[in-house]
Amino acid sequence: MPEVVELLGDGIAAELREAVRALNETLGSPVTFRAVDWSLEARETRPSVIDEALEAIRALGAAMKYPTVTKTVSPNQLLRERLDLSVIHRPCRSYPGVSRNYTGVIDLHVVRVATGGTYEDAGRRIGHHSAVAIRVIERAPVEHAAHFAFRLAERHRRRVVSTSKWTIQVATDGLFEEVVAEVAREYRNVEHRAELFDALLAKLIIAPERYDVIVTPNEYGDFLSDMVYGLVGSVGLGASASYALSPSHQPLIGIFDPAGGTAPDIAGKGIANPAGAFEAYAYLLQFCGFDDLGRRVVESIRDAIAAGERTPDLGGDLDTRGFTEALVRRLAAQSSGGGR
Ligand code: ATP
Repeated sequence: MPEVVELLGDGIAAELREAVRALNETLGSPVTFRAVDWSLEARETRPSVIDEALEAIRALGAAMKYPTVTKTVSPNQLLRERLDLSVIHRPCRSYPGVSRNYTGVIDLHVVRVATGGTYEDAGRRIGHHSAVAIRVIERAPVEHAAHFAFRLAERHRRRVVSTSKWTIQVATDGLFEEVVAEVAREYRNVEHRAELFDALLAKLIIAPERYDVIVTPNEYGDFLSDMVYGLVGSVGLGASASYALSPSHQPLIGIFDPAGGTAPDIAGKGIANPAGAFEAYAYLLQFCGFDDLGRRVVESIRDAIAAGERTPDLGGDLDTRGFTEALVRRLAAQSSGGGR
């Protein structure tokens, strides 16, 4: 039975964790969790928990992470840097019956380069009226992200769009597009085209069904995935997977977390939507080799939401525990699956 790290966090993290634990138990505990407290309080009063968590993740290879508050250092940034995470994968799919502005079917994947862009350098002020920051694009993480995107597209609808502002950011985004185009030549069975990021935003809002896999530099990927979750209906529905890849672009370490943040406005009320955390947990199961089980969890979330079993962010009246129980009932009613 694989053991994985569980990074506890802040805000709604405790509620989400309780929900995932309940689900894991219902499924007959295909994985066990080694908990490390990564709440702000723990990180501030016992800074050794940072290295403790990193060592545990290196040793076990996978972690379920809950939302954490950023004060001085971003815990997510820390994980990316110290564990060499180079790719962030965010699947974005619409849920039947969830009210939103766009009523068509959305089923796309955002693949974001996890490092670089404008996020590596906080920048500095130059006198009173100016400020400057450095923007970084590096070949290695772009290669990883591009291979990840093309391999994903091979299993999906065989279309990759790379997006950036290469006409303006000629050096940095120019390098990004150059590397993606090189990688594309290794995947002749997948169609590739580049679209300018601003134009893509408009097209994505008008016709998201045209998109399959989108690969993009760090900051654009950050904006894009939040926007797509908006199209889908709630940030509480999103899940995110971050990977460190081997030289042959195979995932070595996987960290799985709900896409939303600590949601301080609803923390402690017991009404957080655990669907994104459940989906992250499902990807963790798949990463650990429990492919069918992971797929069953994803399908059950969709079925539950389609059947009107919803938390208040989706217009429903179930609280976190109520939605968890609804899902547990669905999964318990099915026959159990297994890992490889
Ligand atoms: P952080 O600084 O941790 O990112 P934030 O408030 O800036 O916190 P989010 O936590 O993502 O950003 O919250 C944005 C909005 O989405 C809030 O109104 C929050 O209540 C809502 N939200 C986020 N996650 C969930 C969830 N799981 N269920 C319901 N609503 C959520």
